[in-house]
This record gives sequence, C-alpha cells and structure tokens, in this order.
Amino acid sequence: MPAYADMTTEELAAKRDELMREYEAIKAKGLALNMARGKPSSAQLDLSMPMLASVTTYEDCLAEDGTDCRNYGVLDGIPEAKRLMASMLDDDADHVIVFGSSSLNIMYDTMARCWSFGTLGHTPWSKLDEVKWLCPCPGYDRHFGVTEAFGFTMIPVTMTPDGPDMDEVERLVANDASVKGIWCVPKYSNPGGVTYSDEVVRRLAAMPCAAEDFRIFWDNAYGIHHLYDAPEQQDQLLDIRAACDEAGNPDRCFKFASTSKVTFPGAGISAMAASAANIADVKARMNPQVIGHDKLNQLRHVRFLRDAKGLAAHMSKHAAILRPKFELVDAKLTEALTEVGGCSWSKPRGGYFVSFDAPAGCAKRIVALAKDAGVTMTGAGATWPYKNDPADSNIRIAPSLPPVEELEATLDVFTCCVKLAYIEKLLR
Ligand code: PLP
Repeated sequence: MPAYADMTTEELAAKRDELMREYEAIKAKGLALNMARGKPSSAQLDLSMPMLASVTTYEDCLAEDGTDCRNYGVLDGIPEAKRLMASMLDDDADHVIVFGSSSLNIMYDTMARCWSFGTLGHTPWSKLDEVKWLCPCPGYDRHFGVTEAFGFTMIPVTMTPDGPDMDEVERLVANDASVKGIWCVPKYSNPGGVTYSDEVVRRLAAMPCAAEDFRIFWDNAYGIHHLYDAPEQQDQLLDIRAACDEAGNPDRCFKFASTSKVTFPGAGISAMAASAANIADVKARMNPQVIGHDKLNQLRHVRFLRDAKGLAAHMSKHAAILRPKFELVDAKLTEALTEVGGCSWSKPRGGYFVSFDAPAGCAKRIVALAKDAGVTMTGAGATWPYKNDPADSNIRIAPSLPPVEELEATLDVFTCCVKLAYIEKLLR
C-alpha cells in the first residue's frame, strides 16, 4: 500500500469510505475507554498494599530519633524519610525537605513564595510588570496550569531528543530579566520520554541569565521509573544541583519528586531538594504555614521501601506491569501507521507516556473522533501552554491505566481515528 500522501484522490476517497465503515462499527460497540491521564493501574496499586500494614502499633509510630510520629512537629520531615527522598532526588538528606502527598503542590507553593515574598531577598515577582516562563514543549499540562494561574507569559521552547533546545533557551534568558524560570521534567519527560543529556544539564546550570533570580523547576517525577531492569537499558541523568554548584550558580535550581507513582498517587510523600540557602529560605517561609506534614505516612514509606535498593526492587515490579503496555503501544502504532506515513511517536525507556505526533492539523480531529467512539484521550493541545499547539499535531498517549486487553481495543480505535483524520485532511 502506498503512503496516504502518495495516493490519488480516488484511492483516498475509497480508503476513507472503508475506514468510515470500520469507525461506525467501532462506535456501535458503545465503548467507554480511557487513555487520558497517567494513572497507575489497579495491579500497580496492589503492589503497595502491604505498606498500609507497616505502622500499626505504638512502637511502629516512633521515628529513629524517638519522635512520636502521631503528634505535631518536625517541619521538614523525619530523618529516615529525608534519606529515602534524598535517594530519589539524587541529593543529600541535609538538602531535602519532605512535604505532603503532592509534588505539584510543592511546585505551586514554591512559585507562590517567589511571587509573594521573592526568593533569597530578590523582588517578589508579583511586584514586576511581567514574568515570563520557559516551557519546553510538548510538556506537562499541569505545569503550564501553575504558571498560567500566576499570570506568567509562557514561552514555548522546542524539545529535542536531548532536552530543551539550549540555543533557544540561552538566547531567551540572556538579555531579558523578566524571564524568571523554566519547567523541566529532566528524565523520561512527560510526555516525550526524553532524558536530558549531560551537556543540556550543564548548559542550564551555567548559562548567563539576565534575571539574577532565574530558577529551574526540576521536576524529576520519573527519576526512578524505568521500564527495563538492565542498567544499559536505563537512562542516566546528570545531577542539576551539582552542576549548578560547579557553575557557580548554587541557588538556581529547585528539585522535586514524589512517590505518587511508586506507592499511591495522592497518598504518597513528596520532597524538594535545593541549596542550603534555598532550603533555609523555604523553611523560614513554611514556619507560619504548617507545623509538619504526615509523619506516619513518612514512616510507612520508609518501612516499606527502605532505601535506594528497596525502591529499585519495587519499581522493577511496576516495570513488569507497565512494560508490556508500552511495547503494545509501539507494536500497534507500528503495525497500523507505518505504511500510512506522516505520523511519529516516542519509544520511551521509562516514565508514563508516549508522545504521538500526527500530521499537522489533525490532532484535535483525532481526539474528537476518538471521543465520539467512546475513547477519552488527553485533550489535543494540552501539551502546550494555553492548550495551543500551533501545529495541532501532538497527542499524549497514557497507556498505564487500562488493562492490556482494553488498551489493545483503545489503540485500535485510536489508530482508526488517526487514519480517518489524516485522509480527511488530504482530501480537503
Ligand atoms: N510532575 C509530573 C511531570 C507529572 O507527570 C505528574 C503527574 O502526572 C506530577 C508531577 C504530579 O505529581 P504529584 O502527584 O507528586 O503531585
């Protein structure tokens, strides 16, 4: 079969009619499938059920330093939880604060502190005429939601297979002091599955910025979320804080992570790591805000996951469930769309998403067709600031939640919609 772009109008029209019949047959099944959000499946959540039984007696509630975790106190987290989260953040426990269940919440609050109080004595961003923020695209919709909520002007930056296009980033930050920061998901990025190269990490750390209080929001949400166990099949990421230290910009980065996709989303623990000055500043601002976070949950996580080795063993169980789903996505897309042409997609070695690029001008139509056929996808455009993908091309595929059989059915619907939308475009 020739690629769609090489077909005559008559051939395309015949193919469209055939696909339309296929599409109507799918619609008649009355499916209700969901591939919209990166949620762990029920089987993955089951992996952490034993954790709930790890803190039940009085003795269980005592931290290693004797703190009774049933009571108020300990602003920045019990020592053993700091160590556990330091291993996830690739940092030292001294530089870590453990928070509540959501890293997105920490990012929002970190932004709010910069906005209301300024960071390390700099002018609060709320006092400035304009704050601009760099948004590598495609990116995480909820990041863009945070910067939109504060009214920042979001500037899309091209993602390359090595991370954000650093020529573009360096140009944007060099002379404009209103550019205050950048969102980064540096490992197995959402949605592209990209891990930043050492060169990109070093350039981010060292680039001259017009804004002295330029901040990298380093959301390492998928730092330990490999799909494969063999070290040579796992991506490696250079540590941004060490790179910032080396470059003489120690306060430039805030690192974030959580156990949302390790144990339970919404009932895990989250943490930030940063320079000593940043940590002291954040703790001072936290003081009037909160007495301490859920230490019993910190204990549960430490008892269950123990340390870096325990984390890796647990993540390997997640990988065993997730891997076949990611391999199925690639196999199905390859089978259905290689000959069609015009489409590309990522083949990540970790994380939660596949980034799909449809022929330009087709993404919204594909998502709408899928919805009418009973398949909910992430909204087209969601991977761009203001939900505005200028090429109307990118769609985020989230294969983790549905069981394999359901995922297979969902991908059949999706690929049919992709083909239909592409033919409609070619016939326009
Ligand atoms: N950061 C990224 C890149 C994500 O993809 C997600 C969830 O999908 C989050 C943060 C949310 O993390 P949390 O549950 O810790 O708020």
